[in-house]
Formats: sequence, C-alpha cells, structure tokens
Amino acid sequence: MDFNCITPSVVFQEVPNEISLCFSITGCKVGCKGCHSTELWDQKNGLKLTNQLFIQYLKKYQGLISCVVFFGGEWQPSALIEKLLIAKNFGLKTCLYSGEEAGEKYIDLRITQHLNFLKTGAWRPELGGLASSTTNQIFRDLSTGKKLNYLFTKNNIDANQFNLLTTKGTNNVAA
Ligand code: SF4
Repeated sequence: MDFNCITPSVVFQEVPNEISLCFSITGCKVGCKGCHSTELWDQKNGLKLTNQLFIQYLKKYQGLISCVVFFGGEWQPSALIEKLLIAKNFGLKTCLYSGEEAGEKYIDLRITQHLNFLKTGAWRPELGGLASSTTNQIFRDLSTGKKLNYLFTKNNIDANQFNLLTTKGTNNVAA
C-alpha cells in the first residue's frame, strides 16, 4: 500500500507557536463534502514518502523548523509511526491533522503516543474550521490534554505569527 505525499511545505498557522514542515498524505477516505484538497483522495497521487526521503526533507530543513505536521496518514499506522519516531529523533515536535471525529472513531494509541498535537474532526463548511466558535474540530495538546482551539482565532494567529517572526526570523524559512 502506498504512503504518498504531496510535496511538503513549511507552514506557520497549523500548529500554534511552531514552524512546521507539512506532509499531506494521499489516500484520505473521509470524503468531506466541500473538501478543499480532493487531490488527497487518490492514494496514487504524490511522491512515495520512504523513510529515506523523509529524512532527506528533515535534514534539508533542520534548524529551520520545530515541528512536523501530517495531514492524514493515520490509515497506515506503521508507516506513519516510523515517520513520527524519526521526527522525534531529530528533536522535532509532531502533529497529526485527522478528519476522524474525536470520540466517535478511535485514533490508534500507537500513533497518538508519538504525537504532541492532534487535530480531529471532518471539514463541515456549515460549522467552520478551527477558528470558528461552532466548529466540530478540536485541536489538542496531547501532553496536557488541553484544547487549544482558542489559539486559532484571528487575534491569536496574529500574535503567534509575530512571536515566530521575532524569535525565528522569516528569512531563514524559505529554504
Ligand atoms: S479529511 Fe481533509 S482531505 Fe480528507 S476529505 Fe476531509 S477535508 Fe478532504
């Protein structure tokens, strides 16, 4: 079974107060209405994300990023866990964005034990995303169990970005 990803990119807002390298894994089966990333539905799309290629990306961005975020991939626990362990060995934090609803479907404990952050919940346009007060989605710090949705409101995103810009410097990020 393929574990493919779209070419990764550095992102600033997906994990508050972190500069993250984002890997979008193809093969998503959640099927949200209004999905903005339908290219992720076909598992044949994208590059084969071997451990070797993953390490190459981490080395390329070493010192520039503080976290790795996966959009999906929980449908292949072994392949995902291998990447999470590698990222942790590089001293990086780890995050998973899953379309599974918290409390309804189980996200494998073998995965979550290697995560610092977990976002759950399908995309429901009528409820909005993490910045919406009506959202079904939850972003949690797994080390404290604390729900961090409040960090996605506009004022907090602006503050987070200011902190990142002043502590890390933007010029370093565009590798
Ligand atoms: S979980 Fe994400 S990629 Fe998958 S269908 Fe929903 S919005 Fe699209």
